Amino acid sequence: MMKEKSKAVISISGLRHNYTEGDGVKEVLHGIDLDFYGGEIAIIMGPSGSGKSTLLKLIGAQLTIQSGDIVIDGDHLSGANQSRLREIRRKIGFIFQSHHLLDSITVLQNVQLPLAFDKSQNSKSSRELAYEALQTVGIASHAEKKPAHLSGGQKQRVAIARALIRKPAIVLADEPTASLDEKTGREVVELIKKMSKELGVTVVLVTHDNRILDIADRIIRINDGNLLV
Ligand code: ADP
Ligand code: MG
Repeated sequence: MMKEKSKAVISISGLRHNYTEGDGVKEVLHGIDLDFYGGEIAIIMGPSGSGKSTLLKLIGAQLTIQSGDIVIDGDHLSGANQSRLREIRRKIGFIFQSHHLLDSITVLQNVQLPLAFDKSQNSKSSRELAYEALQTVGIASHAEKKPAHLSGGQKQRVAIARALIRKPAIVLADEPTASLDEKTGREVVELIKKMSKELGVTVVLVTHDNRILDIADRIIRINDGNLLV
């Protein structure tokens, strides 16, 4: 469809990251320069330990930037204060390897959770919005169940509904198929693709599963903290 590049929604420049281990410091990202564009599905592919999750956490403002910068929709993460970071995080939905659902509350309540801290008064109740999100991912009939009663694929659908509930511009997915069998994994990535294309969401998905690469508009490879070009 649309092939010309739109404006960068995420712009990463000179990004480095260290972890302190014992008495040593280990650099795990060695200067990443990378842009993501509106509505695209970009897959970052690389072996375990190559820095994928670290990169995703930095983009999602879940880790503090040590060196370099990431610009999200015009906002600089480097040097941003806590309230700014909170605002930026609100533009981003997360889908994790394991679904990260709370087992003590219902599926519907899990999807409502990201709205719990929203002060903006919605015309629709968060319950209605969550129910609609569950309909969109095809599991509204399980709304009142506890997550423990769902299959792996159904849980990941709930996680997708939860990631999309605030209509984020960006969804970050960290190995969303890792705990699923091939067929279920395929259904989940097809759903992520459908959501991205219908809602115009920019998706950055990291994985080492090469069976799902075909859903990507663009594939980026990372190895040992460096992008391969
Ligand atoms: P990937 O997601 O590609 O498997 P990660 O970003 O999780 O890679 O990890 C990159 C490297 O950083 C690995 O060597 C990992 O062991 C190390 N690492 C990740 N998180 C931490 C942490 N909190 N403290 C120390 N080392 C870490
Ligand atoms: Mg990881």
